[in-house]
Amino acid sequence: MAKQSNSLIWFRKGLRIHDNPALQYASKGSNCLFPLFVIDPHYMEPDPTSFSTGSKRAGLNRIRFLLESLVDLDLSLKMIGSRLLLLKGDPAQVVINCLKEWNIKKLYFEHDTEPYYQALDSKVKSFAAANGVEIFSPVSHTLFDPADIINKNGGKPPLTYQSFIKLAGQPPWSSSPVSMSISGLPPVGDVGNCTISEVPSINELGYDAIEEVDWTPFRGGESEALRRLRDSMANKEWVANFEKPKGDPSAFLKPATTVLSPYLKFGCLSSRYFYQCLQEVQKTVQKHTSPPVSLLGQLLWRDFFYTVAFGTPNFDRMKGNEICKQIPWKDDDVMLEAWRDARTGFPWIDAIMVQLRKWGWIHHLARHSVACFLTRGDLFIHWEKGRDAFERLLIDSDWAINNGNWMWLSCSSFFYQYNRIYSPVSFGKKYDPNGSYIKHFLPVLKDMPKEYIYEPWTAPLSIQQKARCIIGVDYPKPIVSHDTASKECKRRLVEAYELNKKLNGVVTDEDLRNLR
Ligand code: FAD
Repeated sequence: MAKQSNSLIWFRKGLRIHDNPALQYASKGSNCLFPLFVIDPHYMEPDPTSFSTGSKRAGLNRIRFLLESLVDLDLSLKMIGSRLLLLKGDPAQVVINCLKEWNIKKLYFEHDTEPYYQALDSKVKSFAAANGVEIFSPVSHTLFDPADIINKNGGKPPLTYQSFIKLAGQPPWSSSPVSMSISGLPPVGDVGNCTISEVPSINELGYDAIEEVDWTPFRGGESEALRRLRDSMANKEWVANFEKPKGDPSAFLKPATTVLSPYLKFGCLSSRYFYQCLQEVQKTVQKHTSPPVSLLGQLLWRDFFYTVAFGTPNFDRMKGNEICKQIPWKDDDVMLEAWRDARTGFPWIDAIMVQLRKWGWIHHLARHSVACFLTRGDLFIHWEKGRDAFERLLIDSDWAINNGNWMWLSCSSFFYQYNRIYSPVSFGKKYDPNGSYIKHFLPVLKDMPKEYIYEPWTAPLSIQQKARCIIGVDYPKPIVSHDTASKECKRRLVEAYELNKKLNGVVTDEDLRNLR
């Protein structure tokens, strides 16, 4: 019989009971199991210098979503004879202290490919190796192990979706049930001198004046994730016919996609379980869409970006990133702030940015619209600045997916058709000619007639007066002329592409300055 000992499961993402291999293994062969979550003050506590309410790394909506997810996890753990232990501090240091204090012999945590976690994990792994602590760290945040795919491709990540799909094949677990439930956990041991807290409220973290915050309508936690998943899967026809990029980005009462991204981000939902549920639906219908456009195909996009991100040094920046075109983006804080604070004067763009701030989630094509506008469509501002704003405001903010999509949208990598620019006027109008989405998120324009709702600056003064919205006073004039700005963006991109080609991608700062 295996020797029994004290074990620790360190929750970071993977905030769930279902399909959680680390927890599954930890549930066996231990006298005591300590389930730990570390509150990292940089991630959770207020930072007055940040551009909107929140911590150094996250906006308030995402912090609250995480707290809700922790409350839900704690409740689920209690139902199987355990509880969540919360400690505060530098996560690697706290875990190392706990390993010592609680005499831990086995440490379990979900493998994570993000640089932030890789750095933490290497500190913890060094300590564990030197102190005889066994580590079990399975891959369960993604469908595939990014390292396997990169190995299969000779050490380089595949850079197209199709080559990724070919290399990936079928996930090995896809035909056996991944979501076995855990009926009981070993008891939590004596926590010694550690001051364990309950999951704090947002006020207890030090946030005040939060009555002014517009909270996202999406609640965190595994229970909510599984409920949303069940609701989506119940509509088999919708799942079978799902086809991206079709779908209405302006649908806000009932979003056109699943809104499961925040739950996948924190691992409240297992992407592998989601994949299996989709397979089940596909078995029961006569016809269904296929990757890349199907829902299953969306999960593969997620894995694609995880794989490229893991295998690309400096994936989150332009410099030193060999898959990213070097482009002389402009530095313009006034324009950047106008975009970020929903003051561009283009109602379609501004309404999306308001939804992003209030809800922490926007439709994929809405992300396309505002990302294109900021970068290669109109303002020619660096994708890293847009990435930063998304990273802060999104509740689904995900290092690999966010960086990958910003490079895509700015024609810096993956996609290079710079002639295909989203019009900040006609694109939204196609879906929502009456402008209901704009009127909802920009109530200042609620009485603007639909003829002018996408271009209110063209409304005669008498109409503006009647709508109680004077352009330039109550709502801004457009910060650029889209026609002129988009032509200028294309010209600059053509020049930059030529330079990248001529210099074989090895472009210096001086080369870029010469292009400006
Ligand atoms: P669904 O259409 O229901 O898709 C199901 C799941 O598939 C999603 O939850 C997501 O995990 C995955 N998925 C869907 N589209 C993509 C995609 N293009 N790339 C990778 N995975 C995808 N998604 C994030 O999860 N986090 C981000 O930080 C993020 N930043 C983005 C930034 C930009 C500029 C753009 C254009 C897209 C970004 N996306 C991001 C991708 C995509 O827009 C969202 O995943 C999707 O809109 C989430 O809504 P959903 O869950 O309803 O998606």
